[in-house]
Amino acid sequence: MRPFAHGTNRLLFLMNHSRKQLIVGNWKMNCSRSEAIRLASHIIATFNPSINSEIMICVPNIHFADISRLKTNSTLLLGAQNIHWHDDGAFTGELSAKMLADYQISYTLVGHSERRQMFDENNQKVALKFEAALRNDMTPILCIGETLEQREKGETISFLISQCEAVVNKVGIKAFANACLAYEPIWAVGTGQTATPEQAQQVHHALRAWFAEQDKQIAEKLQILYGGSMNAGNAKNLLAQADIDGGLIGGASLVADDFLNIYSAAG
Ligand code: PEP
Repeated sequence: MRPFAHGTNRLLFLMNHSRKQLIVGNWKMNCSRSEAIRLASHIIATFNPSINSEIMICVPNIHFADISRLKTNSTLLLGAQNIHWHDDGAFTGELSAKMLADYQISYTLVGHSERRQMFDENNQKVALKFEAALRNDMTPILCIGETLEQREKGETISFLISQCEAVVNKVGIKAFANACLAYEPIWAVGTGQTATPEQAQQVHHALRAWFAEQDKQIAEKLQILYGGSMNAGNAKNLLAQADIDGGLIGGASLVADDFLNIYSAAG
């Protein structure tokens, strides 16, 4: 479907999107304290709350105290980029979902490709983190994605399903009533190379079909976000796809106006 340019397309867009759009900024390991306060303050002061979409920032843990104070009375959501799977214990340098719960952190990414690739996070650890988030009333955003090599070999869908299956086997399909999925092709994350809206829609549709085989209602409600070089220029076309329910945005979330334009494109 083309992006809505007039009333009819807008109506089609809303009919296709019974699920709310969720726009998530992943700041990764960026922003000093003053930069973080400036960026978050700008977003909080400028975004227009909408009934069709929600906006979230996943900031470095050290900024949670400042930003959760800033966001009092704002509907901006706060998310973590990573958690440990235990609630407490001898895990030097780690942070648990239980600790973050005190800072209005309602979501956490789990299994981001950078963590899978650089910090040895395998499907088992990701499933444990997903479970820990739920145990602490946090909504996990399960990140999955294929490499370029896997895509070229035609293994994209089977690989993504194997990543989902590892979590479903651990927590059960019903747990996805309180979770989101983020499809982030590894070849698109941080590369400036975006999946086309058609490529992304095809994957999102296949993933929803796989979830529907397990549980139709869960699949229908599951928010599936797209991530991978989404920016203010390409967001509208991606977000107009029937099975794309939002975006996970890295680089462009560090520029307040770009991030806010992506959020506006969500409607
Ligand atoms: C991400 O970090 O999840 C991401 C999608 O990054 P970028 O938007 O920079 O590709």
